Amino acid sequence: MDVHKADIVISAVSPAQYPSTGLPEIALAGRSNVGKSSFINRMINRKGLARTSGKPGKTQTLNFYIIEEQFYFVDVPGYGYAKVSKTERAKWGQMLETYLTQRDTLKAVLSVVDLRHAPSSEDVQMYEFLKYYELPVIVVATKADKIPRGKWNKHIKIVKDTLNFDENDEFIMFSSETGEGKEEAWNVIEKYLDL
Ligand code: GDP
Repeated sequence: MDVHKADIVISAVSPAQYPSTGLPEIALAGRSNVGKSSFINRMINRKGLARTSGKPGKTQTLNFYIIEEQFYFVDVPGYGYAKVSKTERAKWGQMLETYLTQRDTLKAVLSVVDLRHAPSSEDVQMYEFLKYYELPVIVVATKADKIPRGKWNKHIKIVKDTLNFDENDEFIMFSSETGEGKEEAWNVIEKYLDL
């Protein structure tokens, strides 16, 4: 998809604020700082539309970005926040779970992990959760530019083994820095959007 139009429509703190257009959604899950905002920005060729970290970010919201008036990227920040209280975390977990399991317009979840490191226990939990609910999941191993190509296979194996990756799922190597994997990611996303 060649994107010319993209806007944030809402940072939702409650389900009542989710868009009601009925357009399909592709969510992005992953630890804070893993590169979700950078992924969105690279996919739509915009440097600063999605907030990249270092900035507030602590508010736990579902951020809906409308793309070409055809679908939404939904940035799901919020695991790996040390500073958030237990109660807040539980509340957020609940909201996230409800969104992931009950949102009819959600077509697939991009599970974003860092190619450099073995996925965290939260990454594993998220992947297992998505599999359990039979949500289509696409693993995006980002920051690929930080690993020399000759070592990619070794890192891919660590990521897959740790996740107990299902080879029926899609696995995309990605770099927001170089654009590696962008075309593949669009192909996969468009398949799920079925526009
Ligand atoms: P988010 O919290 O998941 O939205 O993560 P961000 O997109 O804000 O990225 C966190 C940090 O990692 C930022 O400093 C980005 O510039 C950096 N980053 C994200 N993706 C990549 C990538 O593919 N390659 C490199 N080298 N840095 C990246």
